[in-house]
Amino acid sequence: MNLHEYQGKEILSSFGVGIQKGILSKTPKEAVEAAKKLTEETGTGWHVIKAQVHAGGRGKGGGVRLAKNLKEVEQIAEEILGMHLVTPQTSKEGKEVHQVLITEDVYYPGDNEPEEYYMSVLLNRATGRNMIMYSPEGGVDIESVAENTPEKIFTEEIDPATGILPFQARKIAFNFGLEGKAFKEMTKFVTSLYKAYEGCDSSLFEINPVLKTSDDRIIAVDAKVTLDDSALFRHKDYQNMRDTREEDPTEVEAREAGLSYVNLDGNVGCMVNGAGLAMATMDLIKFAGAEPANFLDVGGTADAKRVEQAFKLILKDKKVEAILINIFGGIVRCDRVAKGIIEAYKNMGDQINVPIIVRLQGTNAEEAVKLINEAGINVETAVQFKEAADKVQKVLA
Ligand code: GDP
Ligand code: MN
Repeated sequence: MNLHEYQGKEILSSFGVGIQKGILSKTPKEAVEAAKKLTEETGTGWHVIKAQVHAGGRGKGGGVRLAKNLKEVEQIAEEILGMHLVTPQTSKEGKEVHQVLITEDVYYPGDNEPEEYYMSVLLNRATGRNMIMYSPEGGVDIESVAENTPEKIFTEEIDPATGILPFQARKIAFNFGLEGKAFKEMTKFVTSLYKAYEGCDSSLFEINPVLKTSDDRIIAVDAKVTLDDSALFRHKDYQNMRDTREEDPTEVEAREAGLSYVNLDGNVGCMVNGAGLAMATMDLIKFAGAEPANFLDVGGTADAKRVEQAFKLILKDKKVEAILINIFGGIVRCDRVAKGIIEAYKNMGDQINVPIIVRLQGTNAEEAVKLINEAGINVETAVQFKEAADKVQKVLA
């Protein structure tokens, strides 16, 4: 589950990570009130108005703007709220802005120049350990740093048995070239950031920029936080942070129906039981020279109701030119699945307007194939993987 910047910062702050303070606002009037309150709390003279959408690069699209007085706060909030923000990470249509975060200005002048760094926490899949990735080249897009000056990106891997150790936090602060108060602040920042990452069961933290202020405080100015869906049951207080307006509507519908669905760009819809088989099926479709339109795991109970829901989801995608159903009958018997498919097919009537190939393997597979072939529905059956691929190829030709 992806979070908004303001939610990410809320979580960071609750673990003691220093953040740029802000107040969420839904109207220009609220924005002005928020700005007044921030001035009282932090003494800030200027404010930043930040569009809250699930996309990075907001600054580049005009979704992060500085206001030097309350009149400007109101004006800019008025302009950003309701706009369709287009950034390098959104579609051409952009994302509608429903709310803005009004923040204190943290780039105030002082003894030193403010400095922007990059820091993320994520899983290194090669080693199975979490790592902190960081770079003194922050604020800009990290992909170009990785491409042009890869030596400026550092990683620190964390042993799950010990968590982050003090020497690791010091090493990171050292690599940023810090000393004195800023050095100490950075070790605190990194340590609490890592604890937050573990504590909220995150799968990604990306803080760009981490800011060293002119008076040597270290704070998170931005926060991209992704929580692990599979661990959400442990965090009742985070569950209502989901903003379905930011998510793919078909994926939202699928989740509500208890189906695991990811929308993709291809032309062959997939309906499969089991995530591993679903991945293999996507390979199979590619092997047949086509592209999967989705990942869809119908789970263990592929009964008529679920199959029908799955059909409906797949057919919402107008790019779909064929559907491949790939079922392994282990605990659920193939003949029962076949009956589900037949019933769902009949219920759907002429809503199904693309060819369907069903591959059934496992318990009672032959009986299942016979049932489908004799049901008088326009569904092709296959028993072998290769046979299914050939049939997909044939219907698309
Ligand atoms: P993103 O563009 O979606 O990554 O949004 P960020 O939260 O990273 O903000 C974009 C940029 O706005 C930052 O890199 C800063 O340069 C600028 N910015 C953010 N907060 C402040 C602030 O308090 N004062 C000033 N002057 N600039 C800020
Ligand atoms: Mn950013």
